[in-house]
Amino acid sequence: MSDQLVSPPELEAENASLHARLAYLIEQAELNHSIMCRHQAFDLEIVGAGTFPELIGTIFRSLPAISNLDIVTLSLVDKEDDIHTVMDKLGVDFAAFPELIFVDSEHALGFVPARREALTGPPKPLLGPYVPGLHQDLFPGAPAGLQSIAQVPLLRNRRVIGSLNLGSTDAARFTPALGTDFVEHMASIIAICLENVISNEMLKYIGLTDSLTGVYNRRYIDRRLLEEIGRARRQAYRISCMYIDIDHFKTVNDSVGHQGGDEVLREVANRIKAELRISDALGRFGGEEFVVLLIDADLESATMVAQRIRASIANIPFELSSGELLPVSVSIGVATLDDFERDHAIEGVAQMLVAHADSALYQAKETGRNRVVSFDD
Ligand code: GH3
Ligand code: MG
Ligand code: MG
Repeated sequence: MSDQLVSPPELEAENASLHARLAYLIEQAELNHSIMCRHQAFDLEIVGAGTFPELIGTIFRSLPAISNLDIVTLSLVDKEDDIHTVMDKLGVDFAAFPELIFVDSEHALGFVPARREALTGPPKPLLGPYVPGLHQDLFPGAPAGLQSIAQVPLLRNRRVIGSLNLGSTDAARFTPALGTDFVEHMASIIAICLENVISNEMLKYIGLTDSLTGVYNRRYIDRRLLEEIGRARRQAYRISCMYIDIDHFKTVNDSVGHQGGDEVLREVANRIKAELRISDALGRFGGEEFVVLLIDADLESATMVAQRIRASIANIPFELSSGELLPVSVSIGVATLDDFERDHAIEGVAQMLVAHADSALYQAKETGRNRVVSFDD
């Protein structure tokens, strides 16, 4: 027997150690597999998100859990405040998403082009220790003991549209030496999804608003009215409707031109809006006619609001960009919905409400203009 042969106890020890090593590797493989599955499920979930709040809600809710992170936030570049404005108009509740941060330029995110690439090269993720003075804006409400962070650029067509910000209380979680393929892949999917839902929401917004005045269009008001009538019936409150028409608008156009007429339309919309509550809805029904839905308002209070609107337009002449001062007035018809219309189909009730307001408006025109008439049956 050669003395090079390993004695059985040593062989057993090595065998045991190999077993242990194998068990560890299998455990790791299973762990990686389950992480991969969770990430695939996450990818499917975000790809399927139909709206902006659904997408960011999923990111903020699921990503910390599946990636074992202590905080996840998102910075979005919103140069002209367009994204914020549109989401706000579509009713996104920003208070529900403290992890969402808007910045006005990509420079505010602090990325620099990657080394060795041309100066125009796309930036790489920044990984390292959490430095409060440097990173606090990226992590509002950061948990105590935040130790390491990754700031991953969200890129679309080599343009930085924002950053995905990951934070951990584990100092070893994100270090500059760590590979970034995984987070970059994740960020690329998130960036595509973000761009998708944002452009969908923009299209939705364009389809529901009047491009001249920025208020809702007729399609929106018609749909909203059906929703509100249904809700008002269930919750037993009143809704009222105003039909507003600018007086002698043909003469306005004739004297100040179509351009000046458009300015008047915008200013009328602004003055109406200034008198409304956030729950009310203002739409331009075409031409120089506006409709307002007042939620939880009876005929008396709707008529008071209408009088305020009438006065705010008639009392102060409009100053056009040409410098010209122009007196403008409107006539307003007001109608309300009583809860005893429960037995009728919602569509018919909606049409009737608007028709009543329109007929009151007709009376306001007949009896001299620049006045408010309430419909009473
Ligand atoms: P009344 O007091 O009876 O309402 O008189 P009016 O002149 O306002 O009557 P009418 O409703 O018939 O006229 C509406 C005019 O509004 C006709 C059209 O020239 C003008 N108009 C419609 N849409 C627009 C628009 O988008 N821009 C501008 N500048 N004018 C418009
Ligand atoms: Mg008209
Ligand atoms: Mg008119």
